Amino acid sequence: KSLAILKQQEVYETSALNYPKYFKIAIDKAQGSTIVDVDGNVYIDMVTGISVVNLGHNNPYIKKYVETQLNKVWHTLEIPTEIRVMFAKKLLSTLGFKAKLLFTTTGADAVEAGVKIARWVTKRKVIIAFEGSYHGITSGTLGFTGANRFKEFNPIFDSFVAKFPYPYPYRCPFKDCVNDILSLIDYAISNPAYLGGEVAGILVEPVQGEGGYVIPPRGFLKGLREIADKYSIPLIVDEVQTGVGRTGKMWAYQWEGITPDIVCISKSIGEGIPLSMVAYREDFDKLPIGFHLGTYRGNPLGLAAGLATLEFIERFDILSRVQRLGEKVLSELKEEISNPHVGDIRGLGFMIGIELVKGNKDPLSEGVKKAIEESLKRGLLVYKAGRWDNVIRLMPPLTIPEKLLFTGIEILKDILNNV
Ligand code: PMP
Repeated sequence: KSLAILKQQEVYETSALNYPKYFKIAIDKAQGSTIVDVDGNVYIDMVTGISVVNLGHNNPYIKKYVETQLNKVWHTLEIPTEIRVMFAKKLLSTLGFKAKLLFTTTGADAVEAGVKIARWVTKRKVIIAFEGSYHGITSGTLGFTGANRFKEFNPIFDSFVAKFPYPYPYRCPFKDCVNDILSLIDYAISNPAYLGGEVAGILVEPVQGEGGYVIPPRGFLKGLREIADKYSIPLIVDEVQTGVGRTGKMWAYQWEGITPDIVCISKSIGEGIPLSMVAYREDFDKLPIGFHLGTYRGNPLGLAAGLATLEFIERFDILSRVQRLGEKVLSELKEEISNPHVGDIRGLGFMIGIELVKGNKDPLSEGVKKAIEESLKRGLLVYKAGRWDNVIRLMPPLTIPEKLLFTGIEILKDILNNV
């Protein structure tokens, strides 16, 4: 039945579909960490809708909050509901700095708003962003997104952007991956012939998501914080993929003990019900009425899911679980995979990447495609990432039962060792 439904989808929908090209199934239902297709095949889900359904499909705790809200009201514009203020209070308590919230609808929208706020408060224009980054592909965010391949589809994008290398330990051309890049940025900002006096914000992912689960060495984010302080430039952290516990901290910036000035939040905060927002320093809050608008902002169903998500993570101590199991998975993969094409295995919490290469570290994207296909055949969903599509990326639900997690890891190990 799956193939018939996929065929119909192709008849009705755009030729630009992406995911059905990798996962040739039609989904019937999902529960916890598994997905069932319309033919009754069961899959262990290590994709979670790209780190969205982090607390498992159909999580009863989330469902109860959403159902309660469903019976009250679904859409209110910005006119407050009780759930809206409860969510805002709870979210702000997790950030570690005094902030205000502006609701948005998607990840890209949250980045648009974050950058706009930085430009507004500084009255400057240039945004520092990084090679290999992903911040969305709207006309605005495309300028900040580092991956060039998206640009040919939309040649009109933000030109006030300065791109710098991102510390990529496996592929670092510098002597000192962190400090050399930081020096470069500092030099550019301090030099009137280059960016001096122009920079409105530094926009960074604490771990690059789409870019290949690239984990910068400790000290990078801290160094950016210092530069931001030195020149009074807002530090904008994009936590769209890393946030809400994915790396084993509520926010990935907390690994470095810093606080940003602006945080972009989306994906798993609504557990699949669209909800996103930007949180910014309280003293930036002199924004004019209608500064950033949108009909769906702060949807009550999303807010109910969001409040349930934050409570759930706290109540069931999800963060220490992710740290513990993330390390266990990482060391097992490192110890038990022996394949000359596996160039690097890296991870932080439940963001785990396996980079495939030919000789000389040349990217091996065909291998990743094959691993995704073979996993699917064996009942496991994994996906790709990376500038060259050569990283297998694992993003299991934060709640996945330990046994199921390692059943999935066994499948992947077997594929990498034997296929
Ligand atoms: N920022 C990051 C770090 C992301 O990973 C993504 C999506 N993968 C976005 C922004 C864009 O989010 P959306 O697709 O909801 O626009």
